[in-house]
Amino acid sequence: MSNQSGMFSSAVNLDLGASAQTAPAAAAAASDDDAVHDVVIVGSGPAGYTAAIYTARANLNPVVLAGSVTAGGELMNTTEVENYPGFIDGIMGPDLMGNMQQQAERFGADIRYEDVVSVELEGEIKTVTVEDGTVLRARAVIISTGSEYRKLGLPDEDRLSGHGVSWCATCDGFFFKGQNIAVIGGGDSAIEEATFLTKFADKVTLIHRRDEFRASEIMRQRALDDPKIEILWNTKVTGINGENKVESLDLEDTVTGEASELAVTGLFVAIGSDPRVGLVKDQLELTADSTIAVDGRTSTTSLPGVFAAGDVVDPTYRQAITAAASGCVAAVDVEHYLAALDS
Ligand SMILES: Cc1cc2nc3c(=O)[nH]c(=O)nc-3n(C[C@H](O)[C@H](O)[C@H](O)COP(=O)(O)OP(=O)(O)OC[C@H]3O[C@@H](n4cnc5c(N)ncnc54)[C@H](O)[C@@H]3O)c2cc1C
Repeated sequence: MSNQSGMFSSAVNLDLGASAQTAPAAAAAASDDDAVHDVVIVGSGPAGYTAAIYTARANLNPVVLAGSVTAGGELMNTTEVENYPGFIDGIMGPDLMGNMQQQAERFGADIRYEDVVSVELEGEIKTVTVEDGTVLRARAVIISTGSEYRKLGLPDEDRLSGHGVSWCATCDGFFFKGQNIAVIGGGDSAIEEATFLTKFADKVTLIHRRDEFRASEIMRQRALDDPKIEILWNTKVTGINGENKVESLDLEDTVTGEASELAVTGLFVAIGSDPRVGLVKDQLELTADSTIAVDGRTSTTSLPGVFAAGDVVDPTYRQAITAAASGCVAAVDVEHYLAALDS
């Protein structure tokens, strides 16, 4: 969808798509919770569903714990996805995730719309406990719980997300050709986003609450040298204005307290993200970025039989296609792991 209409992919306030929320009777009938499952997958974003498609086609009868309100993952909160290969005219995020869900079910994946509340990942048989107290046992577990962009916490941020407010320049920069936009943040990723956005926007205002960047020297210099980037130091955003799409930002000088208004049509929030590692942080090794540590290009974690995929292992790329590819890697790693145990 073009930004002329004020809509683009990063809308975080849409209803969850009905198609991806419907648990099929066939899948429920397939469950046998006294059994030891070959593999349980936690998460149903592109990583979890891709892992489900591959493990189901490998006859491993995966159980997918999809989450109770967040099934389908981050793309459920999106309008148009234009960069997922195979869809010439783009596809709505919830439709893409509904397709992945149905594709996994077609091969027999048992998808349950429940939240996992705890996991025990040591030993040959792992346990995964869901909110109603059901305990699933499995020989292998794939963790694909994604990661969450940090928000500013402003009242109109969610209302205008997808209508000028975004967390992803790679996803949405294209929609801002020839426009004046702003980026908030002071780390490497904020400067990277701002620099990337100069390919499209006429002007990018980089807003930072302090008088120096946290970013590395090379990134700092890149921002200072870029003629399309203007930096507003000691400034915080106190409001986002616009009826149906972003029209301006309310700003406040953090030193003098002086208020001002900046006319922009887009706002990219680049203040970091938090990998969802709450379930496993005491059991698996994490990286300095708080993602789950995996061995090289594999999905192998610090515990045998436990694999991780998608944004929860990825501090850098965080796209649907990279998450899906990572889910494939995890599925193949599980296949090899179980085959080695059985041989
Ligand atoms: C607004 C927005 C727009 C975007 N637009 C694009 C785009 O246009 N193109 C693109 O390529 N990428 C886009 N992205 C990025 C893309 O959505 C992510 O990279 C991708 O979804 C990551 O997939 P994932 O499977 O790792 O995690 P997620 O999609 O985040 O899925 C995580 C899953 O884990 C589940 N989960 C978490 N905790 C639990 C628990 N305790 N129990 C059970 N389940 C749990 C959730 O229910 C969810 O199913 C966008 C992101 C956002 C936020």
